[in-house]
Amino acid sequence: MTFYDWYNEHVRLIVDNRYKLKGALVWTPYGFKMQRLVYNKLRALLESTGHQETRFPLMIPETQLQKEKEHVKGFNSEVYWVTHGGSSKLEEKLALRPTSETVIYPMFALWIRSHADLPLKIFQIVNTFRYETKHTRPLIRDREITFFKEAHCAHANQKQAQQEMDSIEKTYKEFFDALCTPYYIVKRPAWDRFPGAEETVAFDQVMPNGKTLQIATSHNLGTGFSKMFEITYEQEDGSHNHPVLTCHGISGRCIAGLISAHGDERGLVLPPEFAPVQIAVVPVIFKNKEDPTKTAEKVFDSIKERWRAVIDKTDETPGAKYYRWEQQGVPIRVELGPREVKENKALLVRRDTGEKKSVALSSLDKELEKLAKNITETMHEKAWEKQKSLTKKATNPKQLKDGFTYEVEVCSEECAKNLEEKLEYRGNIVGKKAKGKCIACGKPAKSVGLMSNAY
Ligand SMILES: [Zn+2]
Repeated sequence: MTFYDWYNEHVRLIVDNRYKLKGALVWTPYGFKMQRLVYNKLRALLESTGHQETRFPLMIPETQLQKEKEHVKGFNSEVYWVTHGGSSKLEEKLALRPTSETVIYPMFALWIRSHADLPLKIFQIVNTFRYETKHTRPLIRDREITFFKEAHCAHANQKQAQQEMDSIEKTYKEFFDALCTPYYIVKRPAWDRFPGAEETVAFDQVMPNGKTLQIATSHNLGTGFSKMFEITYEQEDGSHNHPVLTCHGISGRCIAGLISAHGDERGLVLPPEFAPVQIAVVPVIFKNKEDPTKTAEKVFDSIKERWRAVIDKTDETPGAKYYRWEQQGVPIRVELGPREVKENKALLVRRDTGEKKSVALSSLDKELEKLAKNITETMHEKAWEKQKSLTKKATNPKQLKDGFTYEVEVCSEECAKNLEEKLEYRGNIVGKKAKGKCIACGKPAKSVGLMSNAY
């Protein structure tokens, strides 16, 4: 089974793409619950670092969108336009936000007055629209991008902006570590930055097919946008200055990355913290033996306050029950058969490794706690190992093959760009010192890069 076959089959538990509009998704109730767990984590992390949640309009007047030239150039071909209100043509076309810099910064111009207003750090979680001409894939490349968290911050100076860039990198690490998702932190070269940005830092995850998925970005926008939108603040000495802006984003791709990092041939595998159902209690019924359902109900009652738990009282075969919860990625199954009932025990089955452990009912709570922690640690470790095994070193362009991401060394941005154009691989800079020769020209290399086939 190829990665795409696996992905298309199992992503459907989370989002359904059979709606009759290309690149538009329907979140299932199960997927929506999972999304809420994931994004509440992200919200809490952002709020704990001083970002406040807001909501801005979806539509952008054409003149406003086109204020920052480089920015527009980067998005022009992907913008959806609203041209009519009812049957009358609008005087000015309205864009559906592809991203919200040009929506938010005019408000910053009104809100920011003095140095005391800085830093200003806000975010919103919204849908954005990009007319993708490439092949769409649910949660990986959509035309309506769902759950796009975009944060926008204004700082008194470059030093404050850099502090925010560093702080957000830390926040993102914490977020993806919680999801047990592996990543590389890279800097995008000049030609591949966010339109209008002076620096772009990205989190790239190596997917099971060796391609990289950009799962988060942060951008230092300098003062370009604040000049265009006339954002100024009064400094302590009474003079006026333009604030330095930064922005950072994470989309529903973080969920594509999460399920791809951990899934196996039986379906989803989810870390307990983000599993909509953490524990499935399954009475295992045998003919002519005592029915364990009553004990299972008691067990379920005793854990349901503490855990997101379900009890499976369907009359399907044990195999069919196991399959259902495994496919959904439920981290722990608590099985109760006649033997367990007789011995006052329960059989704990973990989804990530399939390991089973018989525990006394009296210590169930403690055992579940321990197991959930261990599952998280194991998933984290396994996912990082997998990413490592999908990353190879290459010293000659001929060594680059589909199915892997490569660490390479280059002498200059020019060599990296040439190589990228020739191979259709995306090049990035990682913060390591080069020791060898440039993969493109053979001269002494200056920087280490990551080359991959990217989404
Ligand atoms: Zn070179």
